[in-house]
Order: sequence, then C-alpha cells, then structure tokens
Amino acid sequence: MEQECGFNTKILHGKTSHGYGQREILPPISQVTAFEYESMEELEKVFSHKSMGYAYTRIGNPTLTSFEQKINELEGGIGAISCSSGMSAISCALLALCESGDEIIAGSGLYGGTIDLFHDLEKLGIHTVFADVLDRENIERLLNDKTKAIFGELISNPSLRVLDIPEVSEIAHKAGIPLIVDSTTATPYICRPLKLGADIVIHSTSKYINGGGNSIGGIIVDGGKFAWDFDKHTALSDFKKYGKMAFLLRLRTDIWENLGGCMAPLNAFLSYIGVDTLGLRMERICENADELAKALDDEADITVSYLTLKTHPYHKYVEKELNGYGGGILNFRAGSKEKAFKIINSLKYAMIASNIGDIRTLVIHPASTLYIHSGRAEMEAAGVYDDTVRVSVGIEDKKDLIEDFVNAVRNSR
Ligand SMILES: *Cc1c(COP(=O)(O)O)cnc(C)c1O
Repeated sequence: MEQECGFNTKILHGKTSHGYGQREILPPISQVTAFEYESMEELEKVFSHKSMGYAYTRIGNPTLTSFEQKINELEGGIGAISCSSGMSAISCALLALCESGDEIIAGSGLYGGTIDLFHDLEKLGIHTVFADVLDRENIERLLNDKTKAIFGELISNPSLRVLDIPEVSEIAHKAGIPLIVDSTTATPYICRPLKLGADIVIHSTSKYINGGGNSIGGIIVDGGKFAWDFDKHTALSDFKKYGKMAFLLRLRTDIWENLGGCMAPLNAFLSYIGVDTLGLRMERICENADELAKALDDEADITVSYLTLKTHPYHKYVEKELNGYGGGILNFRAGSKEKAFKIINSLKYAMIASNIGDIRTLVIHPASTLYIHSGRAEMEAAGVYDDTVRVSVGIEDKKDLIEDFVNAVRNSR
C-alpha cells in the first residue's frame, strides 16, 4: 500500500495534474472560453465522451480540473466539482439530489446565505426542516420517507457548534440518506469529513482554502461510498447505470453544467496557489486564535466563546474530531452594543469586514450586519447577541494581535 505522506507534502506534491506536459510547476491559467480542435471528428468525440478533452469552459477547463483534483485529494474523495461560489456549490449539490416533494434535514445556526437558500427552495417544492442540534433524537424525529439529505456545518459560524459526523452519518446511512457537510470553517487540515462517515463535502473556497481574500469560489467533493437507492433518490434515476458515481455525474453533466455555476479559471488558479499554504496558515491561525481567546477570557467583563476553552460546550470535539485545533473563529460578548462598537473601532490591526478565513484578522458585529434581517430568536439560536463581536483570526504576530485586542477591551471601559 502507498504510504500516506504529511498534509503539507501532499498538498505540494500530490497527484494533481496540471495539464499539458509543458513541465509547468503550477497549472497554467486557461483564460479561455473555448478550445479549438483540428477536425470536426475530434470535437464530436469530445462531445460524445468518447475521448477526453475540453470544449467550453462552463463544462470543463484544465485550470479548474487541477484545482478540483487537488481539493479532492486532500479530502479523499472520488471527484470534485468547482463552482463560482460557496453558495453555488451548496445549490448545485442540493438540486442534484432533491426534487419537488423531497425534504432536507438541516442543522440550525447555519451560514445566513444557506438558510436563505433553503427558503428559496421551498418555492421549488423542496422543504427543509431544521433541527436545533443535529443529534440522534432530533434526526430520528424529523426523518421520514421524503427525507433525501441531511445537511450540516462541521463548525458552525459564529455559533461554534460541532457536527458529530460519526453519529449523524450512522443515523443517516441507516435511513438510506447521505450526509452533506459544509466544512468551510474547518478545512481539510483540521478534519476530513469523508473519513469520519460524511458522503459529500462542500467548501466555500472564498474563505480558508483561498486564504488570501482574492476570489469567490466553492467546491463539492463526493466521497463515492454512498450506496444510492434509485427508487428513493429519484432525482438521480437517469444516472442509475453509474452506480456510486451517479451523484457526481448528475452534478457534472446536468445540474452544474446547466445552472452555469463554473468557477472562473483565474479564481481556480488563485485558489490553487492559496491552498498550497493551507497547512501553515491553519497552524498559525489556530495558535493565534487559541492564545487570543485565552487572553480575552482573562478580561473580567468579556465572555469568550472558542472551542479550545474548557468552558466551551463543544470542547470535547477538539480532540475527537478536529485534530486538536479550535479553528480560526472566536466570538466574545462585550457587555453592550456600544462597547462592542467601541472595541471594534479602536482595533489597530483587525479589519472591519464581513468575511472569514483571510490571512488578515477580520472583525464584525454580527447583530447589526449578518443578522440584520433575522428575528431575535433566529439570531440567538445562532449564538449572536447585541454585544457579540466575531473575530476571524489571521496570521499576524501573536503578540501584536493580543496586545491590540486587550488594549481595545481595556480602553472601552
Ligand atoms: C461563506 C460561506 C458560504 C457561502 O460561500 P460564498 O463563497 O460566499 O458563496 C457557505 N457556507 C459557509 C460556512 C460560509 O462561511
């Protein structure tokens, strides 16, 4: 058996192909709309899948292939499809699996855009039921014949709940349903959901995978182990002959291709070079976040929520599922909205921006931005209060970050 090398070695020297045998060390950016052929016969073969080849970038492009292979290898899937955004990836995955009359079970406290998408899907006849927590009791209560997928975020943001993948996947598989995991905030450095039992993994690559804050993108990775029952998952019935590849092929040759959500080749290139440093970045980000959380926790009037803190309700998952890491997001409650604003405004280094996963530390007051259209109950279910500050920790020097936050907190008194 081939011996597994380390994460960083694999990222740099994995099996990813970059195309054309011209010995480039990185995939060239195929910034083209279409591909030219010598004869009509050749192009016909490509269209009828009799020979491998690219025809039109919405359907396939070598720069996208390189990026897809790289993420697929990191997650340990049988294939991956890159998308124009994380939302595009989630939409395509759900639309490939579900049709009118079907139901999805989802965790609560999900990314706001995902919750909005579930509302949009209602109009197409796809109904989502939300479980406060995705645990055995809730799932078994919500399961029925119409359920076609369970959807959860591995580490929810900003509520920092951790999905128990082994438990949830076991329940899902018993009911003949795949588990889809949005692993954006965890990244394959911290956890590989497919290894723990998940069937499909999704990332918004706009965040940690790219890391540099320069491209919107998304990706879907198929674990390829789920045994589809085509009488149940009728959305896949035209792809029955492909067996375990049915989902991936319906996605690639149907939903993804026809919805037109391909990633831009330049974004695929930028995300490809971004992910090369994922291991180093996550190591640094998690260390910074851990120490910043501890420093803020020592401040009397601040309540910190971060996974490595022993007081955190999901602390046990740090060792159980997250490879010992707490991720890059921490929240703290400042005492009041005014104090939260005062702290945020006086930070020297952290940027005020509505994003996560950047190498730069980013801060936001979620209640007045990301949750401005939510009711109080919905907001509090996501762990967001009037005085909550969300921090997406970057790779700055730890000493500077801690000093900056602690000073801002002390000056707000
Ligand atoms: C950002 C994000 C998304 C949406 O991704 P986009 O690239 O912004 O479309 C989905 N899920 C999670 C957990 C996210 O953080």
